Amino acid sequence: MVAPIDITFLGTGSAQPSHTRNHQSMAFRADGEIWLFDAGEATQHQLQKSNLKMGRITKVFITHMHGDHCFGLPPLLCTMTENLNPNRAHEGVVDVYGPRPLRQWLRVALRSTYSRLGRHYRVHELIMEGEVADENQEDRHPDEEPGTNIHVKDNTFDLPIDDKEGWTVRAAPIQHSIPSLGYVIQEPSQPGKLDHATIVPKIQRNAQALLEKGYKSPMAVLGKLQRTQVDITLPDGEVLTPPARRPGRQIVILGDTCDASSMLPLCNSPHLLVHEATNALTQLDRIPTSSSQPEITLKDVEDRARSHGHSTPQMAADLAKRMGAQKLIMTHFSARYKGDDSDEESVAIMEEIRQHALDVLGKERDKDVFCARDLWFYEIKY
Ligand SMILES: [Zn+2]
Ligand SMILES: [Zn+2]
Repeated sequence: MVAPIDITFLGTGSAQPSHTRNHQSMAFRADGEIWLFDAGEATQHQLQKSNLKMGRITKVFITHMHGDHCFGLPPLLCTMTENLNPNRAHEGVVDVYGPRPLRQWLRVALRSTYSRLGRHYRVHELIMEGEVADENQEDRHPDEEPGTNIHVKDNTFDLPIDDKEGWTVRAAPIQHSIPSLGYVIQEPSQPGKLDHATIVPKIQRNAQALLEKGYKSPMAVLGKLQRTQVDITLPDGEVLTPPARRPGRQIVILGDTCDASSMLPLCNSPHLLVHEATNALTQLDRIPTSSSQPEITLKDVEDRARSHGHSTPQMAADLAKRMGAQKLIMTHFSARYKGDDSDEESVAIMEEIRQHALDVLGKERDKDVFCARDLWFYEIKY
């Protein structure tokens, strides 16, 4: 049985939050454990509105230091740890990953508000090319454990994820107006699928002999083969080999960006790419502000997006295509694109944005492209 994996979009807005889009945060959940990606302002309120349990958060990954991605982190840390027994504060340390100066900033925020936590935390900083690591681990907050400094190597960060067996998280710097990161989550490989059509007749041929050998049911051999992943020799000498393992799911979550092609070497047809699409050319954007104003073109919108380090749906889809991503979810929308699925007009605008991505990926990919809205939940199927 493969573990259920899903992602809940807690906030899907960009710089300006709106009543339908909170600042950015995503909760990635695998087997009940939650890893949070970004924690914009009021992330804890959004968590309370969702069906996710705050106590299940074990790791927080920050993509970049713009406030719409991290202003919610200090209060979230206070709330998610407040009901825990202070004598057990060392257990279940919360790991926080992100660029500099996340560690110092969090220290100042918690210290200057006299905040104490029910659980300890530590910050692992991803040190970009040319940056100097913060080696001062003495001056810590009372609830802070020493974190690591992760240096970039061949444009890649290998994150220390030692408590979730077989899972890896890697990251790479992506282009934005300030240092920004994209993360690649890799699930461990999974047992392969048994080829029942070939195996079952072989077992049936040996049914009597297997019963005599003590098997309650000859077909129990199937379960044993899958479970143990070891060759089984049948009474007539036929050897059954377990199926080859299948690669686990790969999920790519990007911070704000106008160019994340640096992620390509880390990705292998990911199951899901989450990419920002801040700006678009929709019917809302086409309305001229004055009669003398020339009509806005896609190039104008793209130039404006790039100048702020952001992307259009076409740019997001272009990366998804080059990456071979199986699904694309767009998020981080400008405040003018309401995330209100009970409002016909908002739904039509978001559909326009989705179609822009499909223009690049091909209309036959209709079921593979989504626009996220707040508190929307998506299951990443194997
Ligand atoms: Zn942002
Ligand atoms: Zn940003």
